[in-house]
Amino acid sequence: MAFSGEALRHGMARRCARCGTGGIFRSYYRLHPTCPACGMRFEREDGEWTGALTVIMAVTEVIFGVFLGIGLWLTWPDVPWTWLLVGGVVINILAPVLLYPWSQSVWIGLHYAFVPLDAAEEAEAIAARTRTDADARAEGPGGAQG
Ligand SMILES: [Zn+2]
Repeated sequence: MAFSGEALRHGMARRCARCGTGGIFRSYYRLHPTCPACGMRFEREDGEWTGALTVIMAVTEVIFGVFLGIGLWLTWPDVPWTWLLVGGVVINILAPVLLYPWSQSVWIGLHYAFVPLDAAEEAEAIAARTRTDADARAEGPGGAQG
């Protein structure tokens, strides 16, 4: 198992883990099914996004831990427990909602870093890329033409 740090860096930058291309999201929350440049399918297996959930839970708890630690450090011994509780709840709701798409691209990077595409996935990526190229040619520079 060879780990590719580059794939993880690409994921952290919301880029394709395989080729580093940006624009893998069609909107803030919606990934393209395949990379627009290299054709890699992002949901590589059933339950793929369980890994993204693991990433976002870990990141959320780190953010919460830092918040709690700084809050305690700054206010000890008169800790405003109610405000720490409110802040903690807000962090634990907002962080997963806001960072979930990022956690998906990080997970894609982690998955690809540890498990590169197998032969079948490579073939699928080539086919997807070929389809994308053909669609682009059919549309042409000025949009759809005969
Ligand atoms: Zn790609």
